[in-house]
Amino acid sequence: MTTSVDTRAVHAGRDDLTALGVHVPPIDLSTTNPLPSVDAGGDAYENLAGGNPLTPGDSAVYQRLWNPTVARFENALADLEGTAASVAFASGMAALTATVLAATRDGRRHVVAVRPLYGGTDHVLATGLLGTTVTWARPDQVADAVRPDTALVVVETPANPTLELVDIAALADAAGPVPLLVDNTVATPVLQQPARHGAALVLHSATKSIGGHGDVLAGVVACDTDWAARLRQVRAVTGAILHPLGAYLLHRGLQTLPVRVRAQQATAEKLAGWLAGHPAVVRVHHPSAHDPAGLVGRQMTGTGSLLAVEVRGGAPAAATVAGACRLITHAVSLGGVDTLIQHPASLTHRPVEGDAKPAGGLLRISVGLEDPEDLRADLDQALARIA
Ligand SMILES: *Cc1c(COP(=O)(O)O)cnc(C)c1O
Repeated sequence: MTTSVDTRAVHAGRDDLTALGVHVPPIDLSTTNPLPSVDAGGDAYENLAGGNPLTPGDSAVYQRLWNPTVARFENALADLEGTAASVAFASGMAALTATVLAATRDGRRHVVAVRPLYGGTDHVLATGLLGTTVTWARPDQVADAVRPDTALVVVETPANPTLELVDIAALADAAGPVPLLVDNTVATPVLQQPARHGAALVLHSATKSIGGHGDVLAGVVACDTDWAARLRQVRAVTGAILHPLGAYLLHRGLQTLPVRVRAQQATAEKLAGWLAGHPAVVRVHHPSAHDPAGLVGRQMTGTGSLLAVEVRGGAPAAATVAGACRLITHAVSLGGVDTLIQHPASLTHRPVEGDAKPAGGLLRISVGLEDPEDLRADLDQALARIA
């Protein structure tokens, strides 16, 4: 009906509320549900354990198999990503784990991944903890890296923490029949919908911008109905379903996601421009400063609220700056209403090996909703310590 992301963010997953006689979604906390009969209960269990959606009128049986509040958030998120379905998990890493488990079957256990990736994702793939092997490839090497036993191609754009952009459609082409997983945490569905460019699976750490207030740990994968069934099957047996209170908060977070993202992005662009001229700064990483392939406007409708800055003096200088911020909190995470700074090489990307580890002088800044001048003043006094 309507295609504006702003309008859908406010109304998605709420079509039935008027008929229910309520204005905000109800929260269903039941861990178990009454069964109409032994046979009907057994049939409902088999349907849900197989990863199918709840048949209307059936018992939801048990929360690990199905929860209406979680399903409501999933419908809303799928609407924003332009996919048929989505499946929500207890964290972004639980979502990634389920995706890898769902994709690696029929003897296919090889993954092709484009660095840089979130440190946790890099770690899971590099260690082979989930029984996979990995080939690291640049985007232009992906077609050659794909083998008959390749189960998944993994990419993150904008990449965390360097904010490099990768052409999703070109990568989907290179992957051929192998499903492409795009981590869309940094862009959010407001700025980029990877499924429209050929991604089979779109992953979010919903802990970040979707929740937006630093109080929910969650992950979600947007995909078609077949993938959703496979992911729900893995979720049902591994037990990593999202809690309904978290789902409620994420669904509420979606309503303000477009305005938060755009306001935070406007401030990030201002700070990126100002930081680029600062004598203590070697380089600013933000799509507003570096977009060689012209993907802003074509693939992403904006530049996003995450930026990184490389300071003169390497890791010791970066540590001084992170520790000297007053208004800005020295803490990990991103996409929230308050501005955070962190040192990727020693924190989020600590497990990343060798050359793939971010530069020692790199600091990642997740820009919040504070006044841009207040943020600039705080960074100015912090950078003065290393000038
Ligand atoms: C935080 C993050 C993850 C992991 O999500 P959790 O919710 O912390 O488990 C994955 N990808 C990206 C890009 C992230 O920022």
